Amino acid sequence: MINKYTVYCFDLDGTVYHGTEPVEEAVALIDVLQKEGIDPYYITNNSAASPKEVQQKLKAFGIEAKQSQIMTSAIATAHYCQEHYRGKTVQIIGETGLHEAFETIEMEIVDTGADVVVMGIDRGISYEKLANACLAIREGATFIATNGDKAIPTERGLLPGAGSFVKLVEFSTGVAPMFIGKPESYLLTLVQEASRSRKEEMILIGDNYDTDILAGIRYGIATAHVEGGVTSKEEVLTKEEKPTYYLKNLAAETIQKVFE
Ligand SMILES: [Mg+2]
Repeated sequence: MINKYTVYCFDLDGTVYHGTEPVEEAVALIDVLQKEGIDPYYITNNSAASPKEVQQKLKAFGIEAKQSQIMTSAIATAHYCQEHYRGKTVQIIGETGLHEAFETIEMEIVDTGADVVVMGIDRGISYEKLANACLAIREGATFIATNGDKAIPTERGLLPGAGSFVKLVEFSTGVAPMFIGKPESYLLTLVQEASRSRKEEMILIGDNYDTDILAGIRYGIATAHVEGGVTSKEEVLTKEEKPTYYLKNLAAETIQKVFE
């Protein structure tokens, strides 16, 4: 029963696509769901791209997604800061997705001495940016990280993720950040609010146990681990807290069978 759940939350990288390559079964499944009247949500720890850029990438793979259905850790972090630090100043280490998200909220973006330091992946990171972040945090700024991913899958292999640089700042200052992305549940809170649904109606589908599956388990919704990404099924089977479902792939027939 594909409509056993009505709020599908798909992880993106490793689940719907691998870098620049779409996962054909995922594209087909999303089409089936949309024909059933279920418009999925996409939740990603990647703060580099804006919802508009993600939307364009999905469109190139044949997936029509509304920007409002795309929840990035950048959007979630801006939401969180608007809720808790409105009117304060913020220093940002990140790429366009994070900068654009903060342009829409009531916080002044500054280069040094901010009340809040927000950190996401920044592939143009420099010693100067790290130094300014450390100085602000030592002066008492609140330290918030979009996500703690150690590594990100790319065509070149696993490269350092946002979490690696966050660790550097944490090591230097002795201050641990607050994390917004998966496995924290803030992204799922946003989905639940936007969809006005009950937890029993929601399912999170992802390839990474430590981010996707744990986020779903902690939030109290169904989870499905899909093979072919970061965490192998063998590794998932060794974990104490197990996902609700194991999926070999995202073919609609596979889902039908597993959800029976
Ligand atoms: Mg993934």
